[in-house]
Amino acid sequence: MAAPATPSNLRIDAGRLWSSILETARIGATAKGGINRLTLTDLDRQVRDWFVAACRAAGCTVTIDALGNIFARRPGRDNALPPIAMGSHLDTQPTGGKFDGVIGVLAGLEVLRTLNDSGIETQAPIEVINWTNEEGSRFAPAMLASGVFAGVFTPDYAYTRQDRDGVSFAEALDGIGYRGEAPCGGRKLGAFFELHIEQGPILEAEAKTIGVVSGVQAMRWYELTLTGADSHAGTTPMRLRRDALLAAASVIQAVNALALAHAPDAVGTVGLIEARPNSRNVVPGEVFLTIDLRHPDDAVVAAMEHQLGIALDAIAAEAGIGASLDRNWDSPAVPFDPDCIAAVERAAAAQGLPARRITSGAGHDAAYIARVAPTAMIFVPCDGGVSHNELENASAEHVAAGANVLLQAVLETDARLYGS
Ligand SMILES: [Zn+2]
Repeated sequence: MAAPATPSNLRIDAGRLWSSILETARIGATAKGGINRLTLTDLDRQVRDWFVAACRAAGCTVTIDALGNIFARRPGRDNALPPIAMGSHLDTQPTGGKFDGVIGVLAGLEVLRTLNDSGIETQAPIEVINWTNEEGSRFAPAMLASGVFAGVFTPDYAYTRQDRDGVSFAEALDGIGYRGEAPCGGRKLGAFFELHIEQGPILEAEAKTIGVVSGVQAMRWYELTLTGADSHAGTTPMRLRRDALLAAASVIQAVNALALAHAPDAVGTVGLIEARPNSRNVVPGEVFLTIDLRHPDDAVVAAMEHQLGIALDAIAAEAGIGASLDRNWDSPAVPFDPDCIAAVERAAAAQGLPARRITSGAGHDAAYIARVAPTAMIFVPCDGGVSHNELENASAEHVAAGANVLLQAVLETDARLYGS
């Protein structure tokens, strides 16, 4: 007879987790192997119904809050204690993959099933959470309902967001029957862990299985309008031109140089550009472009912004054009909780999994939850770093490894906070 599982050698059922991923991937499946499951659509309702039924079958009580966030709770010894929570999101981009968000929710479910199988009783209740509208594809901004939970947005702000057809978030939420009775927020969590694919190439390139996420990097977004003069492409001598698109070329080079000057962690991107009037025989008199600067350290992003201003002044003076820069988003760096990070790191080490610390380059629900609960994330590699793409792929082995780290981090945190 096999020895009974003790908490530290307990492992999830990798096959059962993979089956859950494939089963829910049928809801909104695309021809290219991805998922199109926009938030608060009927497909979102179907996957929510699947998740709620699975959680109830696992003996959980299910609470739905006023923003449609779903909390499935497995009781502990003392149900007055704030729960140790896990979770992520089941909504996808219109051409999303099978793993982004999904594995964080389904691995949480698998952890609860594993605890049930082994008969382990935790001190605090353990919860799995599905956050509404993480992607922001149908209703901007992203991470809307975890943001309301954390007090970043008001419920009314969320309810009045509209999709491109003019349907409000509130109408869509009521339409699928997922506006719950519980208020959104004010629900104390002992800790929160989110398992997610990396959505970047670093873990794969370094052959690491686990990314121990130390936080989310700072991001600032800008809009830049360069104003020169429209003039005839045939009759305006080169020395008399005020070519805004030529100046934009220098700006793009400058943004790139700025990021390289703060290597290896800084990134800088001009991702959108519009030349006006955009006619083949007119020297472009106006250009609109966006700039995205990111770095794990707020002070470095601030320094990059300062240097960007100096570069823009020089480019504008040289080209004889005007430059108007607007910062329209400023998201400070989010450091995760040192004890939660350490729990993830120890869980990976105890299982012999190659791991490294990593900063998240993208936003996640955990970035908002970190404002109201001790939080950390676990990354697993995805093929080529490809995500927000129907070809997004992760291996069953890596997803299972991530789920096992999640399980052990949750058990250790329950014992650390509340005693075993
Ligand atoms: Zn995601």
